[in-house]
Amino acid sequence: MPTAGREVVDRRRGDDPGPHRPHVPACSRLVWFSQLTRFRPMTLTPLPACGLPHLVSWVFDLDNTLYPASTQVFAQIDRRMKRFIAGFLEVPEDEAFVVQKRYFHRYGTSMRGLMIEHGMNPHAFMDYVHDIDYAVIPSAPRLERALAGLAGRKVVFTNGSLGHAEAVLERVGIAHHFDAIFDIEAGAYVPKPAPEIYRTMLERFGLRAEASAMFEDCLKNLKPAADLGMTTVFVRDTQHWAYDASADTSHCHHITEDLARWLEDLVAARGAPQPARGTG
Ligand SMILES: [Mg+2]
Repeated sequence: MPTAGREVVDRRRGDDPGPHRPHVPACSRLVWFSQLTRFRPMTLTPLPACGLPHLVSWVFDLDNTLYPASTQVFAQIDRRMKRFIAGFLEVPEDEAFVVQKRYFHRYGTSMRGLMIEHGMNPHAFMDYVHDIDYAVIPSAPRLERALAGLAGRKVVFTNGSLGHAEAVLERVGIAHHFDAIFDIEAGAYVPKPAPEIYRTMLERFGLRAEASAMFEDCLKNLKPAADLGMTTVFVRDTQHWAYDASADTSHCHHITEDLARWLEDLVAARGAPQPARGTG
């Protein structure tokens, strides 16, 4: 795996930057160049002053992207997965946990592994693991206003279920901004980061990859999006369970630790009425 530093050197020599380079509007080439010349791999990236006008559609991951990882929602789901697997396989919970993580790494989701290896019914699994306390998710009025100011189609692209996505969006207070949700069932239970599911999602909604941005907290899920020509925005959280300061971020065109702020700045750069900044 190339280091970010090596990527920078290669690009500065004028070599082919590879498939991860997004379409860059003329007004932002200087900013793009300045991003490439930063040698710190996890540097937060500034927005081009033109506001990325080539982008007309917005694809958002759900969990830990549209609400913070500090809510520990995933910890609730994780515990319920372990409990379900223990009952389903009739093994102790510590043994179920090992299976859960092995399948997660091998198949992309624990559920996918249980379906393939044990013929499990995904509906029962999803209903059980998403029977959680959603009250821990706070509303996000700044994010709501930023989305209101952002023109274009907005969709959610999640490895979770439709019901889970709807519950989360309602809690955050942003459900009314989204045109569609592409959940794990819509993708025939093939999870991100399988490349084919990105193409299916784009085709289903009639989105052009080069005119779409994708927001994600999970680095590996942005790689297929970059390969397809989407603009990628890594929503970074240093408290995230998978955070790795040395990870390769060469496929991330933008990095932010504050999604609402990033969208506010984008809306302002595009010349639309800037949503008022609050404390939410
Ligand atoms: Mg996520």
